[in-house]
Amino acid sequence: MNLDATTIEKIVKSIVKELDSPQDNAACYGEDGIFEDMNDAVEAAFVAQAYYMKQPLALRRKMIEAMREVMLKKENMETICAMAVEETGMGNYEHKLVKQKLAVEKTPGVEDLETAAFSGDEGLTVVELSPFGVIGAITPTTNPTETIINNGIGMLAAGNAVVFAPHPRAKNVSILCVRLFNQAIAAVGGPKNLIVTTTNPSIETSNILMAHPKVKMLVATGGPGIVDTVLRSGKKAIGAGAGNPPVLVDETANIEKAAKDIVDGCTFDNNLPCIAEKEVIVVDQVADYLIFNMKKHGAYEIKDRGLLDKMVEEILPEGRLNRDFVGKDACYIAKKFNIDVPEDTRVLIMETNKDHPFAVEELMMCILPIIRVDNVDEGIELAVELEHGNRHTAMMHSRNVEKLSQMAKRVQTTIFVKNGPSYCGIGAGGEGYTTFTIAGPTGEGLTTAKSFARIRRCVLKDAFSIR
Ligand code: NAD
Repeated sequence: MNLDATTIEKIVKSIVKELDSPQDNAACYGEDGIFEDMNDAVEAAFVAQAYYMKQPLALRRKMIEAMREVMLKKENMETICAMAVEETGMGNYEHKLVKQKLAVEKTPGVEDLETAAFSGDEGLTVVELSPFGVIGAITPTTNPTETIINNGIGMLAAGNAVVFAPHPRAKNVSILCVRLFNQAIAAVGGPKNLIVTTTNPSIETSNILMAHPKVKMLVATGGPGIVDTVLRSGKKAIGAGAGNPPVLVDETANIEKAAKDIVDGCTFDNNLPCIAEKEVIVVDQVADYLIFNMKKHGAYEIKDRGLLDKMVEEILPEGRLNRDFVGKDACYIAKKFNIDVPEDTRVLIMETNKDHPFAVEELMMCILPIIRVDNVDEGIELAVELEHGNRHTAMMHSRNVEKLSQMAKRVQTTIFVKNGPSYCGIGAGGEGYTTFTIAGPTGEGLTTAKSFARIRRCVLKDAFSIR
């Protein structure tokens, strides 16, 4: 058979394309990014990322757009949020819809990767943000789907592949998100397996992920245990850990508004967000009026000290958080303790001292302790103490600019919201983009695509300076 040069070129090109495609790699037998074996998942993500690196940025943008679209579809949004509440047994469906929409719409994409340039007599130097490769991302039960959406968009926008290790209690809904993302990416011609996970997540599978040599970065969103583990891994790691956000109210604040903001913030998704108000510190002079106004917005005050002791015993048995109460609404908790509360009760409040377990521990449920202080300076110091150096989130209601500034400097949190509910800090009703991975311990802050990228310098000697 005689083949002309054009035909030969066509055949060679098609073979090279086949070899280049991750679709045909032996490791890629997971369907829609779901693998039985963690090692297979990592291998598939590795192959997919190598292929992804060769694709144009235009495809990246198209994929990110498709990922947003699929998650915004009404039926997907509703199924995911209902499943998240049902599977984890935590949170509030309506609020999960808000969080999900926020993650989809306000997570930055490829535009986040800004290039810097230096030019002069000696040429042109560009500084660009380049992917790490395969990222292992460990996600929490409290925002299971929002974290996958937020991390998925940010990590892929930066050119990476990601292997998710969800909490076993959020397994099915996490798998659904990974599946939908893979289908959306495939529909616009993107590679398979840039986002993968396993059918049976466990501590063992997470350990395989964290130790795998092909995983170049670890991102942990969760409690102190998992953050410590990734920081000890010897790999580049981002730790987004626990918070215990205090909210301070001083005598200059708009008390009626502060009361509403605090109840709105602390009851959002049944207090699951790590940024949500976990204890109130209020200057004595305005404390009664604040409590009076909080009651107008659905707070129910518990004054019986014996009952409070019983609640501590059951919610924090031997000092350990009883997960049965985490992410539960106020009426559920009240019922468990035979407290007869109005149906529209949103949060159970109680006055405590500063050492009370409800003030010291991160509860993540619709319970909010209130602590009186003599003056704002004492309040600021107590907020610092109760934040435990997490460098996470704090709120303050005040009209005194000097004291707001003093609090910001002392508390050193990644997010500091002034005169608003906590969720303003992640772009819900406040300016700025969103994240569901707030990296206080490792300092990336409100993570975006650039947090998941390596900074690289590319130098051209003696040319392309056109000034
Ligand atoms: P968690 O620490 O129990 O679990 C988080 C994830 O880590 C899960 O996927 C879990 O399976 C995994 N994990 C935990 N210990 C592990 C181990 N030894 N080995 C391997 N994997 C392990 O937390 P959670 O209850 O799911 O989430 C709530 C916590 O996360 C709270 O403390 C909250 O403040 C924090 N959080 C922080 C942020 C943030 O952005 N900083 C966001 C959400 C939640």
